[in-house]
Amino acid sequence: MNLDLSVSTGNRSLKMYASRLQKLEIVTYRDLLYHIPSRYEDYSLITSISTIQEGELVTVQGVVSQAKNSFTRSHKSIQKITITDESAATDLVWFNQPYIVKNFSVGDSLSVSGRVELFSRKRTLISPEYELLSSPRVHTGRIIPIYPETRGVSSKWLRKQISLLLTEIDGQIEDLLPSIVRSSHLLMDLGSALSSIHFPDSMTSAESARHRLAFDEVFYIQMLTQERKNQWSQIKNGMKLTISDEQLHAFTNSLPFTLTQSQLQVIGEVRSDLARTKPMNRLLQGDVGSGKTVVAALAMYAAALSGFQSAVMAPTEILAQQHYNTLTSLLSPFGIKVGLVTSSSRYHVASSKKNKKKSDKLHTTHYPLPTTDVLVGTHALVAKNLTFTKLRFVAIDEQQRFGVTQRGILREKGKSPHILTMTATPIPRTMALTLYGELDASYLTQMPKGRKTIKTWLVPEEKRSGAYEWVEKQIIETDSQIFIICPFIEESENMQTVKAASIEFERLKTDIFPHLRLGLLHGKLKSKEKDLVLTQFREKKFDILVATPVVEVGIDIPNATTIVIEGSERFGLAQLHQLRGRVGRGDKQSYCLLFTSSDNPTATARLKAMETMSSGALLAEFDLKMRGPGQMYGLAQSGSRMLKIASFSDFELLDQAKKAAILISEDLTNYPKLQQMIASKMIDVITPD
Ligand code: ADP
Ligand code: MG
Repeated sequence: MNLDLSVSTGNRSLKMYASRLQKLEIVTYRDLLYHIPSRYEDYSLITSISTIQEGELVTVQGVVSQAKNSFTRSHKSIQKITITDESAATDLVWFNQPYIVKNFSVGDSLSVSGRVELFSRKRTLISPEYELLSSPRVHTGRIIPIYPETRGVSSKWLRKQISLLLTEIDGQIEDLLPSIVRSSHLLMDLGSALSSIHFPDSMTSAESARHRLAFDEVFYIQMLTQERKNQWSQIKNGMKLTISDEQLHAFTNSLPFTLTQSQLQVIGEVRSDLARTKPMNRLLQGDVGSGKTVVAALAMYAAALSGFQSAVMAPTEILAQQHYNTLTSLLSPFGIKVGLVTSSSRYHVASSKKNKKKSDKLHTTHYPLPTTDVLVGTHALVAKNLTFTKLRFVAIDEQQRFGVTQRGILREKGKSPHILTMTATPIPRTMALTLYGELDASYLTQMPKGRKTIKTWLVPEEKRSGAYEWVEKQIIETDSQIFIICPFIEESENMQTVKAASIEFERLKTDIFPHLRLGLLHGKLKSKEKDLVLTQFREKKFDILVATPVVEVGIDIPNATTIVIEGSERFGLAQLHQLRGRVGRGDKQSYCLLFTSSDNPTATARLKAMETMSSGALLAEFDLKMRGPGQMYGLAQSGSRMLKIASFSDFELLDQAKKAAILISEDLTNYPKLQQMIASKMIDVITPD
């Protein structure tokens, strides 16, 4: 059977449920097979009816002696089945499911599992699991799986379908994990693992099955990583982009600041990568404000000196706009023309005065943009109709927000361009090695001189009004500006978030700060409106900018010195750290106030870490330990999706699977089927959606 077929090609029930299953990300049989239980219920102990006790989780077996629909005194419909074994009789009761009695006939032998409760003063099983004693044990009398569910798809339904699927594919599962890996890491074979993860004989075998599947998951990611690394190392047609020492000095001397030691070192790494025909593939990690942009700008400068184009991809329009401004000011003194393309603005071109005429012309031409040296944009950069003539350098900001596919397309638009990906989302090292193992890594470990630590305080509910007074005084006395961030409601900004922000904005404006000027920024504003709000804030037309968490990436307003974050317990520490990075950009002392109404001690402990830790990397490690990777912001999409079974906090497993992958990839030709599978996945990664 082909596991890659859609479940909608299956039995009637699967057909009917196909669209609901999509909500659980189940499209193919393979997805169904890999829908892993979130927990188990142990119904393996079979009890005689006479000994069942209220509150116990039991399995009983007996013969149906009565099945009837009736009504309670308050006219609720109830279904009562009586079953009898050699010791006694008991009732099974359901409410409001009149069709259920049709499933039973007097004389049927049943296996029934559930909790014993008192009903009409009798020991009764309410809404238990049940099945005919003659059928295989799926729902009762064993350890049964409980799955992630969605509306209209119950664990019972999933259990049934998955058990049918397992029977159908029994003995046919092909295990591509080399047996040498399996034996040296004491792993179950794949077929047994798949059946044991759903229907284990014991909790130990469920655990072994999970371990095997988790190992697989990391192993195959690592195999792909190794392959990408190998392929990349074979590309030799990159363009050498060299910068002479004089040219480098001209660039650094033009900067309004002195580069940090750390920036100089990374610039050195980038410069030597660029000087090779094997294209650069480097990940630049550095805390918010560590000065990554100027490193990327240097590479663009190098490309332009050699007559080539660069592209810069940013995750949001606000950020693209800001990069466009920054890069224009850094690069236009050298006559380098910077353009901007976003889905709403199409493109603008700025340049030094000397080139003004040419760029005016560009406004009226269409793609391609042969005379733009640096094109900044959002995902609009990967649009089909946008073609580059001589793209040789690509910078990707906050790369974890872009799919591998988008990165791939952008890469394809150039001729083996050098690639620099940048991220401020502090990724713990182990996680980075798993997710981005094929990239070379650089770290900006130093902050620019003169940066002060941002003073951070946790503000419980009873100190809220005091904090508002402090904020007002701060604005008036130090002539500074404030961000107030509304609570995080959902990962993507929807109308609910916007509505909540608007209500909070009105409340703050009328009730709390009637004497101050407030502006509102949210993701549903048109990009022109966003620009306007930000420009006005920058020009000090407001004292306070109330914003949804969209300001998280990028906004750079040095006069803003305080950030107030509402509902801070809902954010991941990495995200709070990013938000905090919106202030502390100038030389004034800056502050971060974390409002919380939670008195959960774990939540408070997490937030307390913000008061004492100022390094994003430390906070990330701490959060990983406290909450697990699924919760870490920004990795909610890429990270947790990538690992469904394994955990980024399982360092030993990550390490073992990686070592195994390196070993196997060294003589992959000995494993033709595995090689074929990896090759097919590699194509997945490069082909556009
Ligand atoms: P990030 O790493 O978060 O992208 P940016 O590149 O936006 O940081 O830099 C943050 C701010 O610091 C910018 O205003 C930038 O001009 C400034 N900056 C960068 N490097 C230095 C430095 N070496 N000294 C002082 N300021 C710097
Ligand atoms: Mg940046």
